[in-house]
Amino acid sequence: MSRVALVTGGSRGIGRAIALGLARGGHRVAVNYSTRPEAAESVVQEIRSNGGEAIAVGADVSDEEAVGRLIREVGEGLGPVEVLVNNAGVTRDGLLARMSSDDWDRVIEVNLRSAFLCTKAVMRGMLKNRWGRIISIGSVSGLAGNPGQANYAASKAAVIGFTKSIAKEVGGRGITVNVVAPGFIETDMTAELGEAALEAAISATAVGRLGRPEDVAAAVAYLAGENAGFVTGQVIVVDGGLTI
Ligand code: NDP
Repeated sequence: MSRVALVTGGSRGIGRAIALGLARGGHRVAVNYSTRPEAAESVVQEIRSNGGEAIAVGADVSDEEAVGRLIREVGEGLGPVEVLVNNAGVTRDGLLARMSSDDWDRVIEVNLRSAFLCTKAVMRGMLKNRWGRIISIGSVSGLAGNPGQANYAASKAAVIGFTKSIAKEVGGRGITVNVVAPGFIETDMTAELGEAALEAAISATAVGRLGRPEDVAAAVAYLAGENAGFVTGQVIVVDGGLTI
């Protein structure tokens, strides 16, 4: 069944793979970005050239007004959002002793407040339709913690509590709410890590490689599907066995 999907931060990395994967599954996809319209536009073009339907919509998803506009534009362009993927995220790493309150606040705003704002903004439509899929991208950092990522790990752990609470609120209305928690995935976000850190990350996995954005997209596609209606409030870890 073709649904309207919104992927926040769908222009690059994991979000891009999620957007392409959902479009391949027949969904009409809104690709959100914050600063790089050309990246979002290239995802839209790729989807269209494969016969799919997509639009790009710019919005800083940590900003309430911008989120309101985003959801309105998606509604006008494609229809009410039926599948929301809270993917947009940032890091501002640093050991606690040196972490500024700006770095703390920005990570919490983009990674956590955005999930609250976007989920709230699409909820009315989902409740009315008695169907919806909300999938947030967490991180193994939110499960196990990571030195230098107190802000990031806190934001990702909080997304899990948020998810489980909303899952209980709306489960009776055909809406599922889940988290996909990736390990190390090859994107711009991890490109900053040095060779030694990447080697260490690879050797800590059971499967002996870094993850690909498509590995995460496959889990999202499953949770977004019609057949996943009995799976809610869960955290699906996609980390090659890093945390086992
Ligand atoms: P990238 O840095 O590659 O891409 C980030 C995406 O988010 C871009 O599309 C960017 O858009 C968008 N974005 C950033 N800030 C905002 C904002 N305020 N509003 C709207 N969009 C925004 O990240 P990844 O693909 O690596 O990460 C995607 C998600 O997966 C994040 O939530 C991240 O925390 C999580 N994750 C990533 C892991 C990894 O190893 N890569 C591991 C675990 C979790 P633009 O370019 O326009 O700014």
